[in-house]
Amino acid sequence: MLSERDRRLGMRPMPKRGKKRRNRERRKQQAFAREHPWIPYGEYLLSNWWKSKRKQKLASIGFRCENCHAVKNLHVHHLHYRTLWREKDSDLQVLCTSCHQGKHELDIQMNRHLRAIALEV
Ligand SMILES: [Zn+2]
Ligand SMILES: [Zn+2]
Repeated sequence: MLSERDRRLGMRPMPKRGKKRRNRERRKQQAFAREHPWIPYGEYLLSNWWKSKRKQKLASIGFRCENCHAVKNLHVHHLHYRTLWREKDSDLQVLCTSCHQGKHELDIQMNRHLRAIALEV
């Protein structure tokens, strides 16, 4: 079960997998929450700051995927989350849907991030 604090931070119950893997996921979630405890990531992505930031990034790149140059279904991906609320363009990357999913394929926070991907569109 999640504590009240974990729920407030937008965490979800762990998927049932190996114990080692579960511990690793929990450590990563805890690190994520420590780095930006002030807001759940899902809410952050709905903020006006993020909406204008992603538009600015898309415009600066010229509305194409930085990986494969596709011009449709573009997302703005966070290379890391250390500068939330004060991202520079270099903290972000414009990716199409399939390149974006590729980036997160090995992400052990896949469940969280699938939701994030939907919101980053
Ligand atoms: Zn692409
Ligand atoms: Zn992403």
